[in-house]
Amino acid sequence: MRKKSFSLMVVPHDKSPIHNVTLSFPWILASVAIFVLSLSFFVYCTVGYYRKSTRTSEMKRLRAENTRLLKRVKEIESNLAQLRTEMEKLAEENDELRTVMDLPQIDPDVRMMGIGGLLLGSGNTILSSPAEAYAEKVELDIDQLLRQAKLEKTSFEEIRKKFLAQRERLDHTPSIIPAVGYLSSGFGWRKDPFTRRRAFHYGVDISGQHGTPVYATADGRVRKVQYLPRTFGKLVVVDHGYGYETVYAHLSRITVRRGQSVKRGEKIGEMGNTGRSTGTHLHYEVKVNGRPVNPLRFFYAQTYVGS
Ligand SMILES: [Zn+2]
Repeated sequence: MRKKSFSLMVVPHDKSPIHNVTLSFPWILASVAIFVLSLSFFVYCTVGYYRKSTRTSEMKRLRAENTRLLKRVKEIESNLAQLRTEMEKLAEENDELRTVMDLPQIDPDVRMMGIGGLLLGSGNTILSSPAEAYAEKVELDIDQLLRQAKLEKTSFEEIRKKFLAQRERLDHTPSIIPAVGYLSSGFGWRKDPFTRRRAFHYGVDISGQHGTPVYATADGRVRKVQYLPRTFGKLVVVDHGYGYETVYAHLSRITVRRGQSVKRGEKIGEMGNTGRSTGTHLHYEVKVNGRPVNPLRFFYAQTYVGS
């Protein structure tokens, strides 16, 4: 078999002699192979380097982003800490109001159940990244705060309800002095001004000028408007509900009708000397569940209307 070979002639442009190189086929083959391999290796290295550098910059970017996110999560965490402080103040206020309103304190266990919850997390914080761990903590904190907010809200609603009910009751509890004047006779045993015998006086007498306005001492409804010439004279009885009733006697004039609703401080009549009376005065009684009690105990405000 004849060996294939090529001649490579190098012809210089000056007068130098021509070089003649004879190349055998296997030699060419080997050269081409080496060239191709070198090229491949070069391409492989270049691509590898490029990839690596891309990956490195991506890593850098992600790391920077991670740092930024971690910082933000930490910021959120510190905001949450402030929120928690505010929530603590609300809880304290809640407790105070519950004490004032005579409501039982929130059971500490209930409150802990309401605000606890750190144990309920996935607990995988050791394996997760710092940012993830922080995010998880923030999540738990928010969850906890939400539950506490609900708890405090429910309690505030309870306080509000009780307060409104109490205010309603207070509005219907006799609490002011019904007329301007001076106390001429108290509640209890005394010498009857007519018979001079010992007798129980079921109210207080407030003496004053004829025509002095007489006021309802609490919200209620006029139950009785009567004229009893031998006893109470011109009489008004107001039913306040909650077992309270007030009696205003010896009036010179009555300015309300039976069944009429009255507010505390609303004028119901004028002071007079009607019925069994020795001088211009108001006979005022407070009854609790039908039993007369000392009206002085109900002069909470210690003030007259309008003074
Ligand atoms: Zn009297």
